[in-house]
Amino acid sequence: MVEQKDLIKAVNIIKNSNYIVAFTGAGSSTESGISDFRSEGGLWSRFDPSIYANYHYFLKDPTKFWEMHNELSEILINAEPNPIHHAIAKLEQLGKLNAIITQNIDSLHQKAGSGSFNNIPIYELHGSYEKLECLDCKREFHFSMVETKSVKYPVCECGGLIKPKVVLFGEPLPFGVLEGAMQECRNCDCFLMVGSSLLVSPANLMPLIAKQHGARVIFINRDKTMMDGIADVFLQGKGGDILMKLMDAVIND
Ligand code: NAD
Ligand code: ZN
Repeated sequence: MVEQKDLIKAVNIIKNSNYIVAFTGAGSSTESGISDFRSEGGLWSRFDPSIYANYHYFLKDPTKFWEMHNELSEILINAEPNPIHHAIAKLEQLGKLNAIITQNIDSLHQKAGSGSFNNIPIYELHGSYEKLECLDCKREFHFSMVETKSVKYPVCECGGLIKPKVVLFGEPLPFGVLEGAMQECRNCDCFLMVGSSLLVSPANLMPLIAKQHGARVIFINRDKTMMDGIADVFLQGKGGDILMKLMDAVIND
């Protein structure tokens, strides 16, 4: 249960900030029906990441990855943004948000309209499920262009393996995206984190960088994280409910 004084503190930070960066993780999409990785019943309890989401394993045998992906992509295509995505989009509409950094690959921020109100950048640290490429000739494909279900795994005309541009374990982050996101963390005066265990590196460096550069840090998460000590305010609970209250106060108080 969030205490009123903590909520007021977060509202005041948001109102008094001039450069807010929102940082989201898998927990911001669970209310859209996409399970996170580490919670009970989450993806990792069904698909061992060292096999299903490992880059080196993918190169040896892509079938396991596509098995997981075919199941997950059905959910991703049909998922709709939830109150967390809408609240973050609203912050941009109000002129209060300067950038979004997300670990998610689900495009739900874009589906909620983020990036289209004030053209703020959205840094997808781990890529997007919608974009695919051939690992050999680098030809790019939209998800809808590639048949993935009737084959063991999709192959390009050149014979190369086709892979979604999502970052698997053992694979570097997309060029330029990490640097851009880190610069936003240095620039911001408020860092708003929603729904991340902050266990995945280098993404989990972001709140630390923001804090070191003087930003006020707000965490909204269902469970405690290893980094709660750096948060100026930690609002624990269901992100959608908390952000709806928070936005109501930002707009009306
Ligand atoms: P994580 O699974 O490690 O942690 C999720 C956190 O969100 C947990 O601490 C949990 O307490 C919290 N949470 C869950 N539901 C919540 C809710 N309704 N409100 C508030 N908090 C909630 O997620 P992570 O830190 O993002 O790391 C997982 C990695 O997996 C990321 O790299 C991400 O790329 C990937 N992933 C992405 C998606 C997606 O695109 N939606 C889904 C699963 C995993
Ligand atoms: Zn090719």
